[in-house]
Amino acid sequence: MNNMHNFNPGPAALPDEVKRRAKEEGFNIDNGNLSIMEYSHRSKEYEAIHFGTQEKIKQILKVPDNFDILFLQGGASLQFAMIPMNFLTPGKKAGYVLSGSWSEKAYEEALRCGESYVYASSAEKQYRSIPNIYSWEPNENTAYFHLTSNNTIYGTQWYQYPQHHHDLPVCIDMSSDIFSRPIDWSKVDFIYAGAQKNAGPAGVTIVIVKKEWLESANDNIPKIMSYRTHQQKNSLYHTPPTFSVFIMGLMMDWIIDQGGVDKLHERNAQKANLIYSLMDQSDHFYLPHAEKHSRSMMNITFRLPSVELEQLFLTRAMDEGFLGLKGHRSVGGCRISLYNAVTTESTKILTEYMANFRQQHTC
Ligand SMILES: *Cc1c(COP(=O)(O)O)cnc(C)c1O
Repeated sequence: MNNMHNFNPGPAALPDEVKRRAKEEGFNIDNGNLSIMEYSHRSKEYEAIHFGTQEKIKQILKVPDNFDILFLQGGASLQFAMIPMNFLTPGKKAGYVLSGSWSEKAYEEALRCGESYVYASSAEKQYRSIPNIYSWEPNENTAYFHLTSNNTIYGTQWYQYPQHHHDLPVCIDMSSDIFSRPIDWSKVDFIYAGAQKNAGPAGVTIVIVKKEWLESANDNIPKIMSYRTHQQKNSLYHTPPTFSVFIMGLMMDWIIDQGGVDKLHERNAQKANLIYSLMDQSDHFYLPHAEKHSRSMMNITFRLPSVELEQLFLTRAMDEGFLGLKGHRSVGGCRISLYNAVTTESTKILTEYMANFRQQHTC
């Protein structure tokens, strides 16, 4: 196994410890006769996993009591539609901050549900930075703002969320940086994340919503689309993705073992710094897409001096056991994803590869 270094953008690396426990414990219930996948979601065995995982998330992220934690399906992409269905009530508008492809997709879904507008955007700067929203004025009757905390494809990240801007509710897509750092709950009303980048396997989506805001949600939508349906049934309204929740629970144990999100934040900053320093000293050989003040700690998107060199860089990397360094098909180039499960050791080995490659190809 361990000549491989997994930098996949998502689904992404899982810690060895989580995989070991998944094999051992996931298939060893009832003296090894059953796997967790074969239990009813109404059983006490599954309930312990379900509620235990919610408890651990609450502990790790210090979620205040006035928020509910939901486990849903359909990925972050379903949230793009569910948020406006629930909160973009008639007569209201939703303000979207565009900072990359995922926020564009969220905005497109909102447009299909009601009146929405672009609150701020860095599209004209090729999404190289997080847009500045402080000089902007929201439209009247704005129901909420939506932003994307980490832009997985362009490699930018919000360092600080806006202080409750004009007192309007804030929804944040945290799919690619949840659990990578602490969350300041005084600045958010609703967060969501597909688990498959930083929280476990695909199939489960975490939603954390302020109870008070949920009370104002639209009820006049299909039941399965209503957050309140899931809230009232403790995310057991219908069959949840039991195996994904189980693995996510193991991931939460691992995060606690690592010392929690403060420790992971420190480590993630170190890892990102190793790569960015090398790039900054490469004489523009490795050119990060993001402007310095918006650089992501999770996804480093970059170009080399030519498409041919990029190709060579990627092919050699593959031969040496580095997985997942190709850029997203929409922007090309290369990308290094440094989620929680990527070790400092793997990151160092990658920087050695990059330094060697740089030496062999002067430009
Ligand atoms: C990956 C990603 C998504 C899409 O998630 P799905 O679970 O595939 O729907 C949405 N937003 C961000 C920021 C992402 O990184």
